[in-house]
Amino acid sequence: MSTMLAAVLHDFDHLELEQVAVPRAREYGDVVVRVKSCGFCATDYKAIRGIRRNVSFPAIVGHEPSGVVSEVGPGVSHFEVGDEVIVQPLGHCGFCRHCRSGNTHYCENAFVTGGDGPEDVRPGAFAEYMLTKESCLFRKPESISFDAAAVTEPLAGAWKGVIHHSRMQVGEDVVVIGVGSIGLLCLMVAKAAGAARLVAVDVSEYARRNALSLGATHAVDPVGEDAKTRVYEMMPEGPDLVVEAAGPIEAVRLMVELRRRGTRWNVFGITTHEKFELDGGLTHFLEGRMDASFGTTPLAMSKAIRLMETGLIDTEKIISHRFPLARIGEALEVMGSAARNKVIVNP
Ligand SMILES: [Zn+2]
Ligand SMILES: [Zn+2]
Repeated sequence: MSTMLAAVLHDFDHLELEQVAVPRAREYGDVVVRVKSCGFCATDYKAIRGIRRNVSFPAIVGHEPSGVVSEVGPGVSHFEVGDEVIVQPLGHCGFCRHCRSGNTHYCENAFVTGGDGPEDVRPGAFAEYMLTKESCLFRKPESISFDAAAVTEPLAGAWKGVIHHSRMQVGEDVVVIGVGSIGLLCLMVAKAAGAARLVAVDVSEYARRNALSLGATHAVDPVGEDAKTRVYEMMPEGPDLVVEAAGPIEAVRLMVELRRRGTRWNVFGITTHEKFELDGGLTHFLEGRMDASFGTTPLAMSKAIRLMETGLIDTEKIISHRFPLARIGEALEVMGSAARNKVIVNP
């Protein structure tokens, strides 16, 4: 088998299904994975549609894969052909100062398969096979499906933001602004970690209903009602933690507005460069504390796998659509619609 089906992006809005060469594991640490499932991330959607412009063509996007090891290269000692695995999209060197301080997502020599961030972008997982490194692999527990496992990377991101950076604790009142698929994962992590009152804020009724079915105690529409007043009706003492998982600058401004003394914020969703204002003295006297979080680390990937394996979080519940790779055009349409959660592609 020397060729495979892949969705190749030749230009913005020019995605072609074609036969390309199957990658081979030739270099030290190389592993080829037969991709079974890959999450369709908003980042991939933005690359295909040209909303994100930092793409070099041709490209194969898709950076949330699970699959089976099909070939191992020289020096691979922890995995063998047939192992069921989850692939972390970011490869890190392990030697730079950031890697050695545990912040592998800051790695100065990083590469990414099918994603965004480092300069070294390699083909991703909207293809039957993908090439990665042994150091990017995690074992998929037998008890979870390949589709559920394809949600590991975004779940890891949610764990890293809510728990590792913002230190959410049992009994805290938490607001999640924006409960599309990544915000829903933040909400599920907060629920699993023992949030008391858990308020979801979203403009979409579909998203609010999903949030309520996955553990939110209340849902607020920021357009139809005054969001701050509504949140404070539900949590009169104000939130301990506000997670902005939406993207638009209005969500960041609402995050700031919801504070009371000691509230912690996490700027998690926005990736564009609009400005927001903080009152210096007020921030001082409120002891406003702001965190942010992007990407994942091996620690976060391990925690996400443990959450799924033990049933604390069932990522199947946020999968709304599944498409074979041959129907990726339909997956792309669904990604652009409001009534969807996690979309999975099965190469
Ligand atoms: Zn992603
Ligand atoms: Zn490094």
